[in-house]
Amino acid sequence: MKYIIVTGGVLSGLGKGITVSSMGKLLESRGLSVTAIKIDPYLNCDAGTMNPYQHGEVFVLDDGSEVDLDLGNYERFLDTSLTKDHNITTGKAYRAVIEKERRGDYLGQTVQIIPHITDEIRNMIKEAAEKSGVDVTLVELGGTVGDIESMPFLEAVRQLHIEIGHQNCMFVHITLVPVMSVVGEQKTKPTQHSVKELRAIGIRPDAIVCRAKSPLSKSIKEKISLFCDVPTTAVISAPDAQSIYRVPLILEEQGLTDFLLERLGVPSSSEDLKEWRAFLDRLENPESEVSVAIVGKYTHLKDSYISHFEALHHCGAFTKSKVNIRWVEAEDEKPGGTAIQLEGVDGVVVPGGFGKRGALGKIEAARYARENKIPFLGICLGFQLAVVEFCRNVLGLEGANSTEFNKNTPHPVVDILPEQKGVKNLGGTMRLGAQDVIVQEGSKAQMLYESTTISERHRHRYEINPDYIKQIEDSGLKFTGRSPDKIRMEIAELSDHPYFVASQFHPELKSRPARPAPLYVGLLKAILEGKK
Ligand code: GLN
Repeated sequence: MKYIIVTGGVLSGLGKGITVSSMGKLLESRGLSVTAIKIDPYLNCDAGTMNPYQHGEVFVLDDGSEVDLDLGNYERFLDTSLTKDHNITTGKAYRAVIEKERRGDYLGQTVQIIPHITDEIRNMIKEAAEKSGVDVTLVELGGTVGDIESMPFLEAVRQLHIEIGHQNCMFVHITLVPVMSVVGEQKTKPTQHSVKELRAIGIRPDAIVCRAKSPLSKSIKEKISLFCDVPTTAVISAPDAQSIYRVPLILEEQGLTDFLLERLGVPSSSEDLKEWRAFLDRLENPESEVSVAIVGKYTHLKDSYISHFEALHHCGAFTKSKVNIRWVEAEDEKPGGTAIQLEGVDGVVVPGGFGKRGALGKIEAARYARENKIPFLGICLGFQLAVVEFCRNVLGLEGANSTEFNKNTPHPVVDILPEQKGVKNLGGTMRLGAQDVIVQEGSKAQMLYESTTISERHRHRYEINPDYIKQIEDSGLKFTGRSPDKIRMEIAELSDHPYFVASQFHPELKSRPARPAPLYVGLLKAILEGKK
């Protein structure tokens, strides 16, 4: 088992997750099996209770764990399915140690950060890697070198390097090379300082990936090599890319894969990125252009909807169309506020969400798409609110609502799941993860999935109230996907509309470049069909 530990310097938000995913893709392209682990140095046990504004999207895995959005990037690039073991947080490590202490496992010892927390972290990394049974495990350390929070993790990976041996473990450091606009020169000092910081901790980077607006010049690479004590071949330039999916090729061209393989002493086969290049070719050479609105309340931080964004681009490549996303703020509750923002758009996506804020705008968006026959896809809360809108405006059920927003609504058409009623702790208690859905023969969903049994990921506490189903279906909104016991509504489709489809589950979470999410494919196909 080989390990590549990836640290970050200078500042956060350098796109470490994309670099890690790209390195994984490159190693895979040489015939190796690869997995990735994300370390988040915060005290939350998982990302499930975090606001998207703080943390971006909460990604959900098949096993129901609520994890950092970087796991979504790993899954998309490596076309793999990960588990909860692949996201380690400070909260998780401390909880495990404190539970052991309470059980008496450390009897007699003073329990300390070193060695107890660092041992726990090391074991968590090794266990996740070993369970995967892969050739190479990439470990991405969130945060920036120098943060107090990251210290135990850096110490743990320093120890891991000694434990498993230099030939089995290497370090890649990702930094920023800024340009002072007045002088116009790339500056290496922040990189030098962050490498110095890393070395003070006892970690010597083997390679340095430098994020910059433009490619690094030869002399800047040489300077970083000299001052940071790495060969020039190990100074890699990661300039801003047209698409994140181009990053593997940018790194490959500079010989990063060969460097990694040589350093770890791994024999490899010749590069096979044929499928990846073909995907990129379709993505970058579209034959048509469409606009799709994403109507949400976290639109200021685009990372809050990253999986929708990526799914739409996978489908764009699949249908050879350039997808222009229009971010629409659902909180604009002036009369017609959301509808005005939707004017002229080709398709509408209403994604998931929690809480009352912005709900009205999302309901408006569903109405606008339904009445104007604009292709529409509602996801989770978007599905629930599309049903609310239908009940209010088609069935005439005045005040129809979800009990999430109005406990005393006269028409609780969306209500809490029975098993959620007694739930007190909010962390990790929703209906989560992969669940089977039975899809009705002859429905749009069945044609798109080409199957009547599918498995998709969930994250919700509320559902369509079974008492209203007959009434809703009789008026034309059909539930074409249900849980295997038929109790839960999973997919809704409007007859007499080019594409009005909504799902309780989150199809965006399983969309991959080579396997775009079927319900998004349906949306784009309907848009393109309408443009003919
Ligand atoms: N808030 C809704 C629920 O809990 C929808 C959740 C979501 O969109 N992920 O059911």
